[in-house]
Amino acid sequence: MVGRSMGNCVALLAVATALAACGGGGGGGGGGPIIIPAVDPLVPAGEVSQAELVNSVQGLQDFQTRYTFGPGDDQAGDYLVARFAALGLTAELDPFLVGGETANNVIVRHLGTEDPNVVYIISAHYDSTSNTPTTLAPGADDNAIGVASVLEAARLLTPHAFRHSVWFVLTAGEEQGSLGAKHLVQWIAAQGIDVRGAIAPDMLGYWPLGDLDMFDILGDPASAPLVAQMADVATQLGVAHKTWTNPSYCYGDDQTTFQEAGIPAITTMDCVEGHNIPASGESTPHYHRATDTLDTLYMPLTTKVVGVMVATLAELADPVETTQP
Ligand SMILES: [Zn+2]
Repeated sequence: MVGRSMGNCVALLAVATALAACGGGGGGGGGGPIIIPAVDPLVPAGEVSQAELVNSVQGLQDFQTRYTFGPGDDQAGDYLVARFAALGLTAELDPFLVGGETANNVIVRHLGTEDPNVVYIISAHYDSTSNTPTTLAPGADDNAIGVASVLEAARLLTPHAFRHSVWFVLTAGEEQGSLGAKHLVQWIAAQGIDVRGAIAPDMLGYWPLGDLDMFDILGDPASAPLVAQMADVATQLGVAHKTWTNPSYCYGDDQTTFQEAGIPAITTMDCVEGHNIPASGESTPHYHRATDTLDTLYMPLTTKVVGVMVATLAELADPVETTQP
């Protein structure tokens, strides 16, 4: 109904412009530019939708497997391009070869309005693996939930203007040695792109203690300021957390690839993968198993953790006021 009455305007103009043109009563005249205030970074955190996250994880799990050496990862890549398109965002494919097969990173760039050459990245891998990788690798925690959080960040942040650019990145070939992220950082270095920080969520949905659980913020010494910033955001939002800056923890994930390329990078995690931090006393029984499914995730806490990431990314990108003529 709303769409019918506003249809002509929306068809002709970008949404924000349409709101200005149609909402103003049409007649013309005066008014001056409309000032759109900078968004408070904590506001989008409160808008994170558990239903959106569940829908995205289910959508990816429904491919049965997203293993690099099979059709599932390509199908998932197409699905992700379509999900971005449904948000009005154009994704670029960044292809590379894995064992003779083409795999694609999927990238959306939201340009900064004042200093677009400075870039912040949120990145998650969308491929999966398991004990039965070619037939069943639902990879809900590893890492459909990370992908879901990138999609949710894109949904909530791209309507806003930021001083710096934000890239929403979904990598392929992670389970073969972070190959998508390695390809990306080589390209970033070759282009001389000034990436100041990356958030690379990988496994942030398995919370055996439910609301009593605490999420992990991991970085290395060079990314300690980012770890501290995310911890501060988590405190402001009332989300319990632990921090780690030992670079050997969770070594080998996409965050490591960014760090080794000189890009400060942090990750959020549900358990810091028990095999990597025995001292944490935690483990993920479904890690790289066919049992890594949506029904094992605890979404209320996951939704809060995604909110922390969204708010941290918004802070880094630095919201700015804009005007519509
Ligand atoms: Zn992973």
